[in-house]
Amino acid sequence: MSTGASDERKAELAESLAEIRSRVASASSGAPTLVAVSKYKPASDIQACFEQGQLDFGENYVQELVDKAKELSQDIRWHFIGTLQSNKAKTLAAIPNLYSIHTLTSMKTATLLNNALPSERKHPLNVLLQINTSGEDSKSGLSPLLSKDDNDNDLVKLAKHIVTSCPQLRLDGLMTIGALEQSLSDDENADFVTLTTTRDLLELQLQEDGFLSERRLLLSMGMSSDFEAALKAGSNIVRVGTGIFGARATKQ
Ligand SMILES: *Cc1c(COP(=O)(O)O)cnc(C)c1O
Repeated sequence: MSTGASDERKAELAESLAEIRSRVASASSGAPTLVAVSKYKPASDIQACFEQGQLDFGENYVQELVDKAKELSQDIRWHFIGTLQSNKAKTLAAIPNLYSIHTLTSMKTATLLNNALPSERKHPLNVLLQINTSGEDSKSGLSPLLSKDDNDNDLVKLAKHIVTSCPQLRLDGLMTIGALEQSLSDDENADFVTLTTTRDLLELQLQEDGFLSERRLLLSMGMSSDFEAALKAGSNIVRVGTGIFGARATKQ
């Protein structure tokens, strides 16, 4: 057991979490999920937020997630939001309370995850497909859909592969990181528009082929600097790190 956060740190986290929650609530008409992104932050910080009723936490690095998951409550819903390498699929799949992966981009990794998930899991693993909406080389992700005829696209193929051949996975939606410079105005961001359009086209595609009933695919978009704009654009899941935990040490 690690030592807990100091009383001062606990109070600080309770305050920033409450502030972010209220900003999320006022920017959205629905009931979006706030994922607290805790990469590089100690388990004691996560525990302090958990004690404030926060259940969803996001991590970027597999080993860091494995270590924290072992130490912390099984009631936490872990979201993996980092770059996903196929050779880490087995390690991730073994985390019993891994709730969601936001960064799936390949059929190979989907199959590896599906096969590695233990049959005693109570729920299928939620997966979101990462889309490179800004087209930057530095960001990973599949190409967005631009028109209804765009049906031979890798995204459509991966989505169909998951719904037809990966029963341990549940296709939950799409995720983007986006470029900050893409803001069209304070309220409109080109990446958020692109992700929303891609989601609508993918749903149409899957419905036409009988792979999806009425269920809406979710959008994971919005971080500390832009989550309010993302929520106004229809985001269902926002991923907020520094807004809750403060600045991170940069990786060496
Ligand atoms: C680190 C990270 C976040 C959180 O970013 P903040 O700017 O600290 O809110 C969200 N999403 C992804 C994919 C990240 O890697």
